[in-house]
Amino acid sequence: MAARILSGTETGKQIREELRQEIQELKRAGVTPGLAAVLVGDNPASQIYVRNKIRACEELELYSERITPPASIRTEELLEQIGQLNRRPEIDAILVQLPLPSPVDAPRVLMAVDPAKDVDGFHPVNVGALVANRPALRPCTPAGIMELLRRHEIEIKGRRAVVIGRSDIVGKPLALLLLHAHATVTICHSHTQDLPGVARSADILVAAMGRAAFVTPEFIRPGATVIDVGINRIEDPGVAEKLFARHPQRLEAFRRKGSALVGDVHPDVVEVAGALTPVPGGVGPLTIAMLMVNTVEAARRRRGQSVPSRSGQMAAAR
Ligand code: NDP
Repeated sequence: MAARILSGTETGKQIREELRQEIQELKRAGVTPGLAAVLVGDNPASQIYVRNKIRACEELELYSERITPPASIRTEELLEQIGQLNRRPEIDAILVQLPLPSPVDAPRVLMAVDPAKDVDGFHPVNVGALVANRPALRPCTPAGIMELLRRHEIEIKGRRAVVIGRSDIVGKPLALLLLHAHATVTICHSHTQDLPGVARSADILVAAMGRAAFVTPEFIRPGATVIDVGINRIEDPGVAEKLFARHPQRLEAFRRKGSALVGDVHPDVVEVAGALTPVPGGVGPLTIAMLMVNTVEAARRRRGQSVPSRSGQMAAAR
């Protein structure tokens, strides 16, 4: 039987609708949460991501602005610009789009963001709060995945979760959130032995490695929930024909466009998993929805207001 599809597009829409109400209430009380997006240089993918984030702010009537220094900016100058954003009261949330051009000292820049405005949750103060399971801004992609699991009533407590990938942005924070929600968590990486065997022990398997269609049906325990974080573009017709051999509609779409987005999970996994996030339309839309959630939360916290508890943010899931 084909897996239940966990649509991030639908869940993201729900989250944004709920947030719309909250924002209107805040506005009536004289508060318009504000996000500043810092986009250094002209990386085309980063430009698209930032454009989508600003558009999401506009749709929800949040204040937003883009700061676009050239790729040649020196670290010191960028630190000065971040400092200015830290001091501006109408800016509640600051995001520094990654990757930064290589001469820029990225860790120093991320450290310079005021932790109270660190909407991506990358500052060591917020990382520490995550490890200690204290309330704070959480990284958007992992928080979105937790929200998706919660809203689809996928049991986490007592389940075995395997996370493939240990990045600071996805794998590690997600593993911690799953742990705080009482899963038994294993983190895998490029040195893990017998990856398919470890993956098969999972009730909840997360693929966040950036390797197109790497996770094949042999990695999946029948009925498991599979979260596909990867976003990979394929352009080789030979690769597409192999991947989509059992998915004629996707192959047809590839032929029309000349490319396709695939996750880290092979399309055939849909026949083995119990539930699966699609790519596109899975984790991606949730990341932007949670960025909006975090912007509103930062605005509330900075004004000493309480924050509604959500699965990514909860101090403890009991
Ligand atoms: P990174 O490149 O930072 O990390 C990849 C991780 O995967 C590393 O820990 C690496 O291990 C591990 N890995 C790589 N190859 C293998 C392998 N063959 N076997 C086991 N582990 C492996 O990537 P990110 O975490 O930033 O992103 C992962 C994917 O998620 C990318 O496709 C990215 O585009 C996507 N993404 C999607 C988002 C969304 O909104 N949907 C948001 C963020 C990312 P090691 O540490 O040993 O090198």
